[in-house]
Amino acid sequence: MAFKSGFVAIVGRPNAGKSTLVNTLVGQKVAIVSPKPQTTRNRIQGILNREDAQIVLIDTPGIHQPKNVLSRMMMDELQHALEGIDILCLIADASVDYGPGDRFSIEWIKRFHGPVYLLLNKVDRIAKHLLLPLIERYNKEFAFAEIFPISALTGAGCLDLVNSWLTRLPEAPPHFPLDQFTDQPERFLAAEVVREKAILQTRDEVPHAIAVLIDNFEETPKLLRIRATIYVEREGQKGILIGKSGEAIKKIGTAARKELEFVLGAKIFLELFVKVQSNWRQNSTLVRQLDWHRQLEQLAQYQEAEEG
Ligand code: GDP
Ligand code: MG
Repeated sequence: MAFKSGFVAIVGRPNAGKSTLVNTLVGQKVAIVSPKPQTTRNRIQGILNREDAQIVLIDTPGIHQPKNVLSRMMMDELQHALEGIDILCLIADASVDYGPGDRFSIEWIKRFHGPVYLLLNKVDRIAKHLLLPLIERYNKEFAFAEIFPISALTGAGCLDLVNSWLTRLPEAPPHFPLDQFTDQPERFLAAEVVREKAILQTRDEVPHAIAVLIDNFEETPKLLRIRATIYVEREGQKGILIGKSGEAIKKIGTAARKELEFVLGAKIFLELFVKVQSNWRQNSTLVRQLDWHRQLEQLAQYQEAEEG
């Protein structure tokens, strides 16, 4: 059988389960999964390698109406995610009612002129008889190429979904080495893991106020030295992140280090700092720094300058 290879983008409203699906299919954690919406900020690629195929999955920020510099950047990312893909998947949380956000998503996907799948996610949470009316509802709004009820969490329906993608993907050699599971630069992955642990450690009002920048990422023969700064918007948030006599930040650090050691397969020395930067979401310089595509460009320019 000929080898198949291609790109599938997963889009949908915040919290629909995009990152969970990518992680489940890749079998490795490549994206933050969080019970709080809007935690995926850049598009992230996870790579699903099988004997007969390589599918590059593009996880994206949630579809939403942009309100500030950060959310505009996120919607730009989303637009870029459509470039060169073979299949677009709109994923929706089947356990919540169809609403204006879903309508906005359907309008948004119309800009793509290839096969669009509808994935009705979280079916582990709903009664079976509710599925059919939901499918009919969506069918009225858009001519989906396929509709799959799935559970990104349990994996139910996911194998059928992948097999269906394969029927539509081109015969092509793999785009990435077969042992690679993400295209993410390791320093971005490190920032994302720290951000996830920080979010998990904090209360509701803090998550969106958190940004993580890697200040230093240094590989030595024995270990990986990472220094990261967690930016928050207010003193109170800083207090929550640091915790009583530094307990919270210690927990964040330990959890992030353990996960990174596992994912990156190296011993890690992780140092964390917390800084208050009010209104960073309106600050385009900082938001731009958070964009890893740009970070990479800058790094490349810097290296060129060093060499030249
Ligand atoms: P994203 O914003 O679309 O990337 O959503 P996430 O992947 O971060 O998931 C949002 C929340 O929904 C997390 O708490 C997930 O654990 C949960 N979730 C995702 N998929 C499923 C599913 O199939 N079933 C259930 N019960 N929960 C899910
Ligand atoms: Mg996500």
